[in-house]
Amino acid sequence: MTPASRSRRPLLIANWKMNGLHADGIERARALAAHVGGAEAIDGDIVVCPPATLLFALRAVFAGSGVALGGQDCHAQAEGAHTGDVSAPMLSDAGCSHVIVGHSERRAGHGEGDEQVAAKAAAAHAAGLTAIVCVGESAADRDAGHALTVIGRQVGGSLPEGAAPANTVVAYEPVWAIGTGRTPGPADIEAAHRQVRAGWERRFSGGGDALRVLYGGSVSARNAGEILAVPGVDGVLVGGASLSADAFWQICQACR
Ligand code: PEP
Repeated sequence: MTPASRSRRPLLIANWKMNGLHADGIERARALAAHVGGAEAIDGDIVVCPPATLLFALRAVFAGSGVALGGQDCHAQAEGAHTGDVSAPMLSDAGCSHVIVGHSERRAGHGEGDEQVAAKAAAAHAAGLTAIVCVGESAADRDAGHALTVIGRQVGGSLPEGAAPANTVVAYEPVWAIGTGRTPGPADIEAAHRQVRAGWERRFSGGGDALRVLYGGSVSARNAGEILAVPGVDGVLVGGASLSADAFWQICQACR
């Protein structure tokens, strides 16, 4: 890592998505907690974002382990007639310190745009949660040469007033890399992260140096070391590979 990124403690996030019944979830969480409590400590923060149904159970498993809990999404309102949604105060009540907002699966599958993502991030902040704001270009954007423009626009539109490096993390997740086994090269990741930080600087007139910017998209035990070594990468957001406690732990170890 560069000297600048070393001042930002690495952050490793597991996004289990819609995977895991109670028994599997408990088993995977216990296995991860055992790794974290073992001899090979890592120099980084770990957040697990399970399905909402597992939050209370996992809070008990992770108690005292140093592993933090996150939600995978939240509604922009704190309560009300929103069938099927979960609010930021509910996540906080269930033991979360973080919540993902603006994941591309929400943007694409639920029609969420930047404005809605910013409202969700603001709701997260109001509930005392750190918002993990996801941005990233589609394959069509990249093929058309618009990747950096799209990233800059999403950063500018998805961050609410009051966002600060203490309550916000940005995850750069190219849509075409999620779940595909394909990843951008180090130079492209570096350029995208620079663009995220520049977008932050434009939006808030400074402060981008302290912002943690993560990479997400087909991170595995095989490529984590190379990705975490890219200047400006302060951690990773991991989907598929986080469904194995051993594989996720190997990824975490890449930041030692
Ligand atoms: C994700 O969904 O945020 C993600 C990065 O998934 P995967 O690691 O499976 O590509």
